[in-house]
Amino acid sequence: EEKKSLNFIEQIIEEDLKTDYTLSDLKFRFPPEPNGFLHIGHASSICLNFGLGLKYNAPVNLRFDDTNPLKEETVYVDSIKSDVQWLGFEWAQECYASDYFQQLYDWAVDLIKAGDAYVDSQTSEEMASQKGTPTQPGTASPYRNRSVAENLELFEAMKNGETGEKAHVLRAKIDMASPNMIMRDPVMYRCLHKAHHRTGNDWMIYPMYDWAHGESDFIESVSHSFCTLEFLPHRELYNWFVERVSKPGELVPKQREFARRNLSHTVVSKRKLAELVEQKIVSSWDDPRMPTISGLRRRGYTPESIRTFADSIGIGKRENMIDVAHLEFCVRDDLNQKAPRVMGVMDPLKVVITNYPEGQEEWLTAENNPEDESAGEHEVPFSRELYIEQEDFKEEASRKFFRLKLGKEVRLKNAYIIKAEDVVKDNEGNILEVHCTYDAESKSGSGTEASQRKVKGTLHWVSIPHAVEAEVRLYDRLFSVEDPTADKEKDFLDFVNPESLQVSKAYVEPYLKSAKAEDKFQFQRIGYFCVDRDTTEDKLVFNRTVTLRDNWKN
Ligand code: ATP
Ligand code: MG
Ligand code: MG
Repeated sequence: EEKKSLNFIEQIIEEDLKTDYTLSDLKFRFPPEPNGFLHIGHASSICLNFGLGLKYNAPVNLRFDDTNPLKEETVYVDSIKSDVQWLGFEWAQECYASDYFQQLYDWAVDLIKAGDAYVDSQTSEEMASQKGTPTQPGTASPYRNRSVAENLELFEAMKNGETGEKAHVLRAKIDMASPNMIMRDPVMYRCLHKAHHRTGNDWMIYPMYDWAHGESDFIESVSHSFCTLEFLPHRELYNWFVERVSKPGELVPKQREFARRNLSHTVVSKRKLAELVEQKIVSSWDDPRMPTISGLRRRGYTPESIRTFADSIGIGKRENMIDVAHLEFCVRDDLNQKAPRVMGVMDPLKVVITNYPEGQEEWLTAENNPEDESAGEHEVPFSRELYIEQEDFKEEASRKFFRLKLGKEVRLKNAYIIKAEDVVKDNEGNILEVHCTYDAESKSGSGTEASQRKVKGTLHWVSIPHAVEAEVRLYDRLFSVEDPTADKEKDFLDFVNPESLQVSKAYVEPYLKSAKAEDKFQFQRIGYFCVDRDTTEDKLVFNRTVTLRDNWKN
């Protein structure tokens, strides 16, 4: 087995295993805030944490970081759970920061008693004006030295909703001169008289992220808490809080940071994705153009392709932009192994095989997947009248045009060699039909000499009397520029690609009539398609997952 070199996160763990940790101490978590659907950036974090869980045989919790009742909803909790499962991971425990509200409150009371926290009754503007600058110390709040008794009384009143929402906050009493601005008496609690998706109206105060996150890790005995780089300056505060609630010598969680992953031609921020939904630029969070896990799933991505993508870009220390072409490569590669080959014509041109008997039909054998023998085969009907693609025929063309032209032959995939003899045109000169003859001895797979005959060019086709009409949704990049957020003067919505969705009609072979939502196919020579959930008994709808880069080599 090939030994892969360790990424820097694995190196941290290996170091810890050599010093103060044993394998059974290891525990990780994936901590989404349920304020939107998961996106491809989250997939990196999911694959990192759950991947470490598998590698070290350690539990991984799914923890909902639900400390802001204004934005969090149960629908998001449900979608996050289904996305993580669909990606193929299993969590040890389903946890909620909101389950720790009482414990966090009790600890906050302990901090007040220890002189480590105080109630500040200034406005947020006043507090902001006292923060100082990185080079200049801040100014202490006039409430910084409130008595413990008064702090306890006010904090309880805050909790019970007996004060105005803006009247007070609870602050940690740390160091107004710290070179790390985050250590200058950060807010631990604010009053919000709002119902929470799980705790209802039980709480009128809600903990801030910094106070809740590390303590949640500690409560769950998480050993390593991996977060994105913007939390690096928060690490000192994370440690300060955990130190307040743990016993000396006790194993406490470590926060370590890795770089956010961005994807070109899209946005990976739940807030911005929510805007696309609210402004109806896309139809829903799982619109196939969205970089959400559910959008990618509906587009036809497989869990394996997303995991391969996350693993191949790896874990980094610096933020960067990954070209969406790499994600497309991953799904193309996976579907090449898995997707049955079928035929569908997007832009039909009628072909009549003049020497094929009228009213006759036959069923030919089509290999499902040349990459996978076990995929078997299916039958395709052939008849006198067929559709081919408009662009596959020209009356005259250069020698490099290996498709159908007058007087020349091509092979119809899984069928016969045909020769274009004549065209039928309307008054304006548009071609209505191409009349061809076929070589009856040339049937693919028949073993005859004619069947082995090499002709340049193989075309896909469908038999007109058997063809099934389908709607095809052709997707392109949602944004026409690589980074729609790069220009800070402009709104990212200004860069939406107006042609990100084109709906058209196609004719597909009857084998597809029984296809179910999420079934994936390669439409030969065109691309990978997946059955959309809008499909009904009498209407097939396909989403184009990704185009094929290569045509058949013949
Ligand atoms: P967003 O701005 O999209 O809301 P977030 O970081 O606020 O992102 P969370 O729900 O808090 O979203 O994220 C859960 C976990 O996923 C966190 O550990 C976060 O750092 C990680 N994560 C989020 N976005 C990315 C990304 N683009 N690349 C890697 N990890 C990410
Ligand atoms: Mg967050
Ligand atoms: Mg966020």
